[in-house]
Amino acid sequence: MKDIEKLDKEYVLHTYARNYVNFVKGENATLYDNENKDYIDFTSGIGVTSVGHGNKQVAKRIFEQVSNLTHTSNIYAIEPQALLAKKIKELSTYDVRTFFANSGAEANEGAIKIARTYGQTAFENKRYKIITLENSFHGRTITTVKATGQSSFHQSKFAPYPEGFSFNAIDDVYKAIDDETVAVMIELVQGEGGILPFPKEKIQELAKFLKDNKILLIIDEVQTGVYRTGEFLASNVYEIEPDIITLAKGLGGGVPIGAVMTNLKDIWGAGDHGSTFGGNYLVTSAGLEVLDILEKEKNSGKLDKTIEYFVEKMNDLYENNQNIFIANVGLGLMRGLRVKDADTLTNLIKTAFECGVMVLKSGNNTLRFLPALTISKDEIDEGFKRLQKAINKIA
Ligand SMILES: *Cc1c(COP(=O)(O)O)cnc(C)c1O
Repeated sequence: MKDIEKLDKEYVLHTYARNYVNFVKGENATLYDNENKDYIDFTSGIGVTSVGHGNKQVAKRIFEQVSNLTHTSNIYAIEPQALLAKKIKELSTYDVRTFFANSGAEANEGAIKIARTYGQTAFENKRYKIITLENSFHGRTITTVKATGQSSFHQSKFAPYPEGFSFNAIDDVYKAIDDETVAVMIELVQGEGGILPFPKEKIQELAKFLKDNKILLIIDEVQTGVYRTGEFLASNVYEIEPDIITLAKGLGGGVPIGAVMTNLKDIWGAGDHGSTFGGNYLVTSAGLEVLDILEKEKNSGKLDKTIEYFVEKMNDLYENNQNIFIANVGLGLMRGLRVKDADTLTNLIKTAFECGVMVLKSGNNTLRFLPALTISKDEIDEGFKRLQKAINKIA
């Protein structure tokens, strides 16, 4: 057994089906293990290292920040936190204020608390129910597990769960709404559920219905946000105006950060919500640098070119391997290829890793791609070459 495997198994609580590689170095979308074998990373740590591994610009900013101040607590104003909230507002194009948390689940908890606060006063009776969608994923805390629209997550060993959550197919949301419903929470492209982008008209129709009925629309952009789908937010792509939006994964380029933004700008006062670490100097200065890099990538046209090139190569892979792929889905750099069966997918991911390219699983049968938004042409070429090699091997 490798040392790292022994250590991990002995001391770390077992919750993951680990791959016992020992990565020691990263450069943009390329990782190196302790034997100096290189891997093309089409996962970016599940959509987190949005500006690549070992990004020198972000590293410099973080180093300068933590050499000076890392944390003072939210008792005191934090300049980079305020600047990041301002930047998020500007890039989103929405009139919002932002609260900073430390993860996606925690951002969603904040969203749920905002909705329930609104439900307390906005209607004749207190409204508290939140409807989510089937196949959704909203996190691993007790509440966000319950909000997740997949029964397999609602394990009895964690029960009891909080009340007020149900999930539906998008077309059935309308009839599921009752006079205790305060919000509908959705992902515009379901990430964990199998890379499922919803049709734009369907989302716009739902958004309008909710607005007309004063019910809040919460968009979970933990995976789709921060340029993952080509615009700063997937909500921008869908041309809707949500009441609450959550962010996390790509926002800090690898440092743990979550954010919940809302147009209910005066919903809370001092003491209503909080977080010890949330929005400290370390994470918000990293977030500022990440957004600075990505805004330039977008405005220079480079991000759109990267997406175009990646999709072109992915389409080729799809066309050339009709024996194993059954659909080609996604938006921006959040993409999937559906594989004919789950066993083939498992085998493909494992063989791809051996061939030096890292890819993810989503849902039961989707091969998922979430590369760094800064991935180079050479990395894209090499990654797809290695994937083809893996496909040939398992054929
Ligand atoms: C990853 C994810 C979460 C959970 O984020 P954590 O940081 O793991 O808590 C929530 N919602 C969506 C859509 C996600 O993709």
